[in-house]
Amino acid sequence: MPPLLLTLKDETFYTAASEIELVDIAPTDSRHWTQNRLRGSTKIFWMTSLSPSGRFTCTDEGNENLLMKYTTLFLDLDDTLYPRTSGLWEAVGGRIQSYIEMKLNLCTEDASLLRAQYLAQFGTTLNGLMRNHQVDPMEYLDYVHDVPVENLIPPDPELQTMLASITIPRIVFTNAYLDYAMRVLKQLGVSDLIDQVIDILALEFSNKPDPLAYHRALALAGNPSPATCLLVDDRETNLSAAAELGMTTVLVGDGAAEETIDYTIEQIHGLTIAVPSLVRK
Ligand SMILES: [Mg+2]
Repeated sequence: MPPLLLTLKDETFYTAASEIELVDIAPTDSRHWTQNRLRGSTKIFWMTSLSPSGRFTCTDEGNENLLMKYTTLFLDLDDTLYPRTSGLWEAVGGRIQSYIEMKLNLCTEDASLLRAQYLAQFGTTLNGLMRNHQVDPMEYLDYVHDVPVENLIPPDPELQTMLASITIPRIVFTNAYLDYAMRVLKQLGVSDLIDQVIDILALEFSNKPDPLAYHRALALAGNPSPATCLLVDDRETNLSAAAELGMTTVLVGDGAAEETIDYTIEQIHGLTIAVPSLVRK
């Protein structure tokens, strides 16, 4: 099959063949950005050239998937569905810190170092504590999630509206604990808008960014093709692992130069603006 020719028109990309809108874009002359947006929209096109007339040529890799839509939206919980500035994750972090100090009889500084080491090495502190100190995971989860969720994050009507507009399954995929996740979702006012919560128990204590956690999450979600899935997360390492599997990735937070990040949004509310196909019928 020859390369597919697409036409740049009124700041919107269309396929010449099918007139399917690929992505709504802002004006840009950034080749890299355009490539990423196309990847994010379809996962099949790789821009190979861009002429002064505004026509560009893509490889034909995966053109049979041109009509493909996203089928599954995976959403991280902490610092993704609520603002990093809320203090909620800091509160959980404080409980993790005090658990380590108490359980391992460490001073604050040593506990802090150990926590950072385990987070970097295993993705969660719990994983390191289970492997190296045989802690009871349920005791840990109960202890660290005993935080005043209701005092730290307000209901979020804008998030409710945004999630309600999304037409594919919305699945929370978190390294946290189901009871805590449900408290957060209820407090935000979105528990009825989440189709499934995949937590650390459902993941059988594997966790992002371990590839096993993603395989288990996909299985629990009904085995959608990773190429039709999006992951929204505030941690680049978690997104890079998803990209390795072929998922589209959305970073919530500061912009990233990582090639594995397809979209970057400042806050979760910008998701459907960045990926408008999520709300298409
Ligand atoms: Mg997070």
